[in-house]
Amino acid sequence: MIEEKDLSQEKKRYYEARAKSVIKALLKRKINSQYTANSAEALTAMMEMIRPGATVARGDSVSVDQVGVMEEITKRAQNKIINPLVRDADGNFAFNSRERHRLEREAFFADVFISSTNAITLDGKLVSVDGHGNRVSAMICGPNKVIIVVGANKIVKDVDEALARIHNVATPINAIRHSLKHNMPEGQDLPCVKAGYCIDCNHPAKPCQYTVIIEGSGIMDKGRLNVVLVGEELGI
Ligand code: SF4
Repeated sequence: MIEEKDLSQEKKRYYEARAKSVIKALLKRKINSQYTANSAEALTAMMEMIRPGATVARGDSVSVDQVGVMEEITKRAQNKIINPLVRDADGNFAFNSRERHRLEREAFFADVFISSTNAITLDGKLVSVDGHGNRVSAMICGPNKVIIVVGANKIVKDVDEALARIHNVATPINAIRHSLKHNMPEGQDLPCVKAGYCIDCNHPAKPCQYTVIIEGSGIMDKGRLNVVLVGEELGI
């Protein structure tokens, strides 16, 4: 009997085709990239890129958490970790803002920076928006190795579609995440949270302050950017 309700095989084929198209575009831009079919394969690929002894820093990313790479590095116990985002059991930051900021800057001197991006275009541009800027700045001018894990659900046609996705989908969902899980109620007041779409506001708690488009890797940065594109839905 045909299972009409389960679309997982259809999505898998679609994401694979789409991801492989993007990888060709990334390689043309001198951005190392590889396709993995699922999170487990992504985890293996990422761990192979992190040598024992390397200092590893991370940016805020649900995709990174879903793949489980920080837990695996911790379990391996062969790397120093710089993580400003450590939280207690109630979702509150473990460090005060001064210490978090110090760790965010220390992350620039790590050997490896792990993050995701908010959207990736069919022609291989990585589009990311930050509230504080530590993630996007480390991606472009931080550690000598940056590993970016991205679910194929984040593939978009072009930069316009990337920005639309970020402002109309990722930002409100992320703000709701922080309010529900991290005791950050200010996000509930954002116009995009209330309406479900962006009105290009200037709200004091606006988290979309810094927009970075990575268009490629220059000669001096050869091999620095490494994208692991996963054929399943990850992150926001
Ligand atoms: S500009 Fe304002 S309304 Fe638009 S996504 Fe950012 S916070 Fe939300």
